[in-house]
Parts: sequence; structure tokens; C-alpha cells
Amino acid sequence: MLACCFRRDPCGLLCMVLTYMSVSYADYVILGHILLPVYSNSIWCPLHAVVFNLLIFMVLACHLRAVCSDPGVVPLPDTAIDFSDLRSGTSRKDDRENDWTVCNRCETYRPPRAHHCRICQRCIRRMDHHCPWINNCVGEMNQKYFIQFLFYTGFASLYAIGLVVVTWLWQVTEKNESMTEEVNLHLTNAQLAHRIILLIEAVLFGLFVSIVFYDQIVSIITDETPIEQKRSKLLKDYQR
Ligand SMILES: [Zn+2]
Ligand SMILES: [Zn+2]
Repeated sequence: MLACCFRRDPCGLLCMVLTYMSVSYADYVILGHILLPVYSNSIWCPLHAVVFNLLIFMVLACHLRAVCSDPGVVPLPDTAIDFSDLRSGTSRKDDRENDWTVCNRCETYRPPRAHHCRICQRCIRRMDHHCPWINNCVGEMNQKYFIQFLFYTGFASLYAIGLVVVTWLWQVTEKNESMTEEVNLHLTNAQLAHRIILLIEAVLFGLFVSIVFYDQIVSIITDETPIEQKRSKLLKDYQR
């Protein structure tokens, strides 16, 4: 299952590498440039380190589940199905339910709400969208892992923003007497650059996952995937 669900899409693979690099960088800055220099003699250092790394672990675990899980791929028939009468337009009483459709690309019947993904090259049950960040479709079977991934990424981003802002304010108000001015200035410059980059990264990722998380929740509440929302909008526009 793992091998067959892994897409060889260059964009998806690039996004996955970017995800792992961003997460690793955030962990490096939090530990090496915020917690250790600022809270080295305090209980807050191991406490924040454990909580942040726990969040990172959950982000990566949910990401891996979303990447490797079967989104709900419609199985292909063992033998080719003859659709010649459907193509020629001659009516044939189908013994399946009316909302089952035929996928011309997969050449098979697909259940209601299944859609064909051009990147996965298969029909996916209750397909939401193809997400390059997980290099997989978001469908009936892996949507919960995708939502968990968004939730923990949003939470980790918020936590990182909080740590950067709080330690920054704390450093401005507190004087660290154990360091000479020269060393302190050098560390401050290095910390400043990393903190600004981390802040930008956390704000961008945080905003992005919040928007996608909101869309996912709306999709669940209304029981309508983005593809179905587009279709019903087109249908309404057409009927006007
Ligand atoms: Zn298909
Ligand atoms: Zn797909």
C-alpha cells in the first residue's frame, strides 16, 4: 500500500522536501537560537523544548500518515469492461445505482462522489483536492490525517511565533550580566536574523494552514467537497 500510494510527482516531492526542511529549520532556531541562549539556566528551556518537539513529532507523524495512506483509490477491474454501448449512445439498463458513473480514463465504474485525479491518474472516492504538500490526494480515507496535519502545523506555528515574541520582549527588558557586551552583540545579530526568518516562516505557514483548515471544516459541515462546490456553482450559473 505504501509503495502504490507514493506519487512520483516532481512538484509534490519538492513540496515534501520543503516541508521537512522548514520543520527542521524551525526546530533548529527554537532550540539553538532561542531556548538554549535565552533560557539556558531555567526550567523553561527543557519545558518549551519538550512541548515544541512533541508538536513537531505530531506534525511529522500526521504528515506521514497523510502521505502514505490510501486516499480512497477506486480499484481497477480485473478484466476490461466493455463500454462500447455507452460510447455508441445506445441505452442499456444499468444494474448499478444511477449516480455511479464511468471514468473514461480508468475505464471502470466509480461510486458516487468519486472523481478522477490527473496527477494520481486514478479515481478517488470523495476526492477533496490533490495536495502537493502531502504529495497525495485528500480523499475519503486520509482526510482526517490531513486535517490533523493542518491542526498541528497551525499550533506549532502559533507556538513558534509566541516563543519568538516573548523571548524577544524578555531579552529587551532583562540584562544578561554573564555575557560581555561583545559576545552579547554577536549573538544578538545571529539570533535576530534567524528569529526574523522563523517569524516570517511561522506567520506564512500559520496563515496558509488556517485558511486550508477553515475550508476543510466548511467542507465537512456542508458535506460538499470543493469539486462539488464548483460544480453546483456552475450549475446555478447555468440555470440563471
Ligand atoms: Zn478515473
Ligand atoms: Zn491526486
